[in-house]
Order: sequence, then structure tokens, then C-alpha cells
Amino acid sequence: MSRRTPNVNAEAVSSRPVDRYVSFMTQSASQAPSPIGVFVTPVTPLQQNCTTVWCTKTLKAAVIDPGGSVAAIVAEVARRGLTLDQIWITHGHLDHAAGAAEMAETSGAPIIGPHLEDQFWIDDLEVQGRQWGLPDARTFTPTRWLEGGDTVTLGETVWEVAHCPGHTPGHVIFFNRAARFAQVGDVLFKGSVGRTDFPRSDPEALIRSVVTRLWPLGDDVTFVPGHGPVSTFGEERRTNPFVSDAALAGPGAVRAATGPA
Ligand SMILES: [Zn+2]
Ligand SMILES: [Zn+2]
Repeated sequence: MSRRTPNVNAEAVSSRPVDRYVSFMTQSASQAPSPIGVFVTPVTPLQQNCTTVWCTKTLKAAVIDPGGSVAAIVAEVARRGLTLDQIWITHGHLDHAAGAAEMAETSGAPIIGPHLEDQFWIDDLEVQGRQWGLPDARTFTPTRWLEGGDTVTLGETVWEVAHCPGHTPGHVIFFNRAARFAQVGDVLFKGSVGRTDFPRSDPEALIRSVVTRLWPLGDDVTFVPGHGPVSTFGEERRTNPFVSDAALAGPGAVRAATGPA
């Protein structure tokens, strides 16, 4: 059982607007039922979007970035009739990874990701946790490190992994091509990009990751960022002040963001 008091309850979990996104997805051009389901749980004082995705055929679920509220998320997965099959990590920051060890212990699910370059962040989770008021934060060794070009299989769904350094050197994102859906962690937000003022952050690499790893996936791709509302790559290419096509065409295009952690 969790030693931590969950900071969200199941009602808050199930009322998140991503449920509306899933409806949108299932009404898309093909009229085919969506191969995946998605719900988002904001966790930790940083309101990190812990995203649960599942295969709608097998009901196997992966929890992406369980930074906290482990017991509440596990309960919500069960309430929806899903089986917690895997834990996926985009990067080693506290708000994304602090609850992974506890979730793996209580569920038996393997921890998959991030890229090995983020090991120094994972090793530091307990120090970060004491500094940021999350004393239950625990370090872990992933069952599987990920690299760009890898795929992960969840039930009958296949997810492509892209290595997107910049915010952290070992940041990865998860993309389901069939559903036109991505979980991008702190690479890209609606209207902003990930901070690059951390040790081993790299603002130029971050922009390169967005332009060469995310944009080619398609303007129609809907993404859940690590913090804040859902958007699409096309919308960000039109309007994002950091990485829109217009912003990157101008002089001095690469600048540091001051967005969420
Ligand atoms: Zn974050
Ligand atoms: Zn982060």
C-alpha cells in the first residue's frame, strides 16, 4: 500500500478534459473506434500530467510519468477495468518519476524509460524529493532503458519512441501512430517549451528535438504535454512563440523558456 496521501481523488482524475479528447479522436475521419484510451492525472505540486494510456482491445494500460498520487492512479486504473501493465518514464525529473518505484512495487509492472542519459537525474530523486517537499520520492533502476527508434508494445498497440534531448539529455517521447497521439513530457507545451536552465540542458538541442523529432510526426498529432493543456503539433507550429514556423524563421530564434519544470 501507499505510504503517501494521494493529492487527487478518482473523481478529479476522471473529470479531466482528456476524456473529451478521446471522444474527439473516436469521431475522426475513419469512424473506426480508437485503438487507445487516455486519461490524465495532475500530480505533485507542479501539476505534472501523469498520463494513463491503454489498448482498447486488451485493456492493458501504461502509466506515463507517475510523479506522485500513486495509490489514486492505481485505483483509477482498476476502477476503469484496466490492467496496469507497464510504467513509462519520459525523463528523470522529480515530478515525472518520483512515484515510479512505489508503483512498480505495488503493481509488479516494469519501468520502461527514459534514455540512459537521464540516469543522473534518477539517481538524484531522493535528494530532489527532500528539497521539494516530496519525501517519498525514490530512485530506481528502469527495467529497460529506451533509445530513439525503439518501440514499446502495449497490448495490441505499438508506440514509437523518439529521443528528444534539450530539457534533459535523456528525455524521450511516446507516439502512437495509429491514434495520432503523443505524450511529450517537458519537450513541448501548449504555447511554450521545456525549461533549459538545468544542468546538462541544451536550448539548441531542445529546438532541434521539436523540429526534427516532433514536427515530422504530423500537424494532426494531438499531444499531452508534461504540464498544462492538450494541443496539436499543427497548432504549435502556427502559434507557439518559441517554436512556431514564423518564430524559427526569424533572427535569434533560439531562446530559453521559463515554463514549468
Ligand atoms: Zn515537468
Ligand atoms: Zn522536467
